[in-house]
Amino acid sequence: MPWFLPVSYIAAAVLFILAIRGLASPRTARAGNALGMLGMLTAVTATLFSPAGGSWWAVAAIASGGLIGTCSGLKVRMTALPQMVAAFNGFGGLAAMLVALSEVSNGSPARFDNALGLIVGGVTFTGSLVAFAKLQGILSGKPRPTHLAALTVLIAASVLTGQFIRQGGLEIFWILAAAIALLGILLVLPIGGADMPVVISVLNSCSGWAAAAIGFSLNNMLLVITGAIIGAAGTILSYIMAKAMNRSLINILLGGFGGETKAALRSENRTAKAGNPQDAAFIMENANKVIIVPGYGMAVAQAQHVLQKMAQDLRQIYNVEVKYAIHPVAGRMPGHMNVLLAEAGVPYEDVFELHDINREFASTDVAYVIGANDITNPLAQTDPSSPIYGMPVLDVAKAKTVFFVKRSLGSGYSGVENPLFYADNTIMLYGDAKQITEQIVNALEKN
Ligand code: NDP
Repeated sequence: MPWFLPVSYIAAAVLFILAIRGLASPRTARAGNALGMLGMLTAVTATLFSPAGGSWWAVAAIASGGLIGTCSGLKVRMTALPQMVAAFNGFGGLAAMLVALSEVSNGSPARFDNALGLIVGGVTFTGSLVAFAKLQGILSGKPRPTHLAALTVLIAASVLTGQFIRQGGLEIFWILAAAIALLGILLVLPIGGADMPVVISVLNSCSGWAAAAIGFSLNNMLLVITGAIIGAAGTILSYIMAKAMNRSLINILLGGFGGETKAALRSENRTAKAGNPQDAAFIMENANKVIIVPGYGMAVAQAQHVLQKMAQDLRQIYNVEVKYAIHPVAGRMPGHMNVLLAEAGVPYEDVFELHDINREFASTDVAYVIGANDITNPLAQTDPSSPIYGMPVLDVAKAKTVFFVKRSLGSGYSGVENPLFYADNTIMLYGDAKQITEQIVNALEKN
């Protein structure tokens, strides 16, 4: 092995670890990304110059992969990121399957790490395809009861795995690969479309473990390290997401929650007060303190830039104190709101996590809830029968006035009705989050 290979691989591994560390905070995320890219460049260049890696096939594969990655990265909308991540996880799984295939085709003896790469990679590949299809609306997000079929295939796959490790051979490889591919589909089908982000995080972690397994097959130290980093990071992220939603990972993975059906509204005989952007502007410009609570609808409407304009106007023209409150599961992926607010140039010191700001609502004049719903729902604290029971929520109801900017009284991700819409101190501002906020900004600048 040439001397530069282990040196470059260790350098790349260190860069990947620093990249993950950088990605932990919006302040250092760009630098983290750059370190990750540098790590990948180091690893790829060293591999290409190694005796085993420098073929034109490898160059062509890297170039086409790079082109696909660049185009998708440039084209994807922020709200479509979860399905893009799902697709890319799936390709990671497919790569692990292909490496296992090439090892078996080359006549290498069947080994446990090879089988592991095939199994984890296969489940990741087809499971990610189903997750992608559900998020993209190609498949219905409705949970499908395929648990029994999954159990049957799991038992068959376990027997086949034993046989594959004992005997090896291409024939048994293909049968096992087909069973595993089916298993991936059957495992993800019963999970509701709305739980897909957690599933994607679990599959992301699986793609990492699959890479680590094929790293052992190929005797490639960098793959083992990188796979383990991705696997561990994905596992921790899945745990954090499940905890913030007050669900166990088992409960999410067994499926049945968050389908397309929405709970029937139980407040038919109550009425919600509707306001208009001009009144909202008047109340906010006369306030001492406003807390903005962004949610998934702000991301859909891409309202972050005009929201930041509103906050600036309130501060600069009317001397109002403005803060942003972020719930850990606001939006549809971890850090979703932080990323959008950072993109709009909101200073980090204006953005507060739930536990740091929740007590401040009681001394706040206005809570401006923009495209958020579940993360403010008090039923999470009071109704043990609610699927979101136990999830910590932002106490917006304690503010003197609460504005909800959304298009209807419809429910959010969980399908649970939000009784806050009917509270005495709530005013609904019906409409698209961006348009309503633009009208408020116009009114603030005119008044
Ligand atoms: P919700 O899904 O609870 O609510 C979003 C609201 O936005 C909807 O009620 C919708 O109401 C409104 N909305 C949609 N489009 C627009 C628009 N263009 N303009 C204005 N409003 C709009 O989102 P939250 O952020 O409050 O909560 C996140 C939920 O997602 C939680 O239940 C969380 O558990 C879940 N989740 C989060 C993950 C994460 O990692 N962040 C991962 C998995 C799940 P209307 O249709 O009336 O406009």
